[in-house]
Amino acid sequence: MKTSVGFIGLGAMGKPMAKNLIKAGFPLYVYDLNPAPVEELVALGAKAAATPKELASNCGTVITMLPNSPHVESVLSGDNGVLAGMATGGTIIDMSSIAPGAAKKLAAMAAEKGVNMIDAPVTGGVVGAEAGTLAILVGGAKEVFEKSMPILEAMGKSIVRFGEIGAGQTAKMVNQIIVGIQWAAVAEAWTIGVKAGADPVLLQEVLGKGAARCFAIERMPNNMLVGNFEPGFAIDLQHKDLCLALDTSRDLQVPLNLTSTALQYYEAARALGFGKKDHSAVVKVLQNITGV
Ligand code: NAD
Repeated sequence: MKTSVGFIGLGAMGKPMAKNLIKAGFPLYVYDLNPAPVEELVALGAKAAATPKELASNCGTVITMLPNSPHVESVLSGDNGVLAGMATGGTIIDMSSIAPGAAKKLAAMAAEKGVNMIDAPVTGGVVGAEAGTLAILVGGAKEVFEKSMPILEAMGKSIVRFGEIGAGQTAKMVNQIIVGIQWAAVAEAWTIGVKAGADPVLLQEVLGKGAARCFAIERMPNNMLVGNFEPGFAIDLQHKDLCLALDTSRDLQVPLNLTSTALQYYEAARALGFGKKDHSAVVKVLQNITGV
């Protein structure tokens, strides 16, 4: 019998990841503020917990997949939090994308209760979460990482430990800087191309095979080319990730000029009401200005 796992945060990513844990045979307890995904998981065999504390009291490992560090902190702490219910020696795997410094702070809070914590943010999007092929970027003690491997293997393919706690989040931050700038760059280039009369479909097909090929160009047929901006990865989350990178840049005194500029596009997209849309909807900012 496999060990019971708790899963908190059944959103765009968490729900398919939790489904893959059930498929792999892990008895699963779930918790989310939104009842709809909880009911969906319960129909597949998971047990719904009334609080994070109740969930943790039934599980040796608890996974969190939440928007940002305040959400993670709120489910870990307090009378009904994970740390109030978890047995000494248990493990928390935080798979949310949060600041490296926040991961260290939360792990120290867990350690005070005798609970291990590793950071394990992911890349690969909803498609990778559904297929169980996520890249998982881990920070934390080697023995906790190794013990957690069967659980991580149910959700991902490339699972790499970058170092001690926070190191996974550092790798994820680097990834998100590149992805955020990439979508802003593709949005700009595509808008001027189309305004100048180029065929958008042909542009995507040909540029996707040359030196400009990248994740954003690959994904265009699912979003920008067909006008479908359902997430996916929300503008609000991309904005949050670039803000985390800029916070870190201030701490480390590393100038991030392109990141700052890209952030303004995501800021404008939020102001136009596209915060809950996919990050490819950053192109809407330029479309609004140019009429393309
Ligand atoms: P989401 O907004 O779709 O899901 C978040 C879930 O957390 C929701 O179901 C929400 O109800 C739940 N939640 C929020 N606060 C809660 C609380 N206090 N208690 C219980 N549940 C709570 O977000 P997502 O797209 O699944 O992303 C989750 C994390 O993964 C984020 O940090 C994001 O940056 C990262 N990420 C997302 C993607 C992607 O493609 N969507 C890819 C890689 C990493």
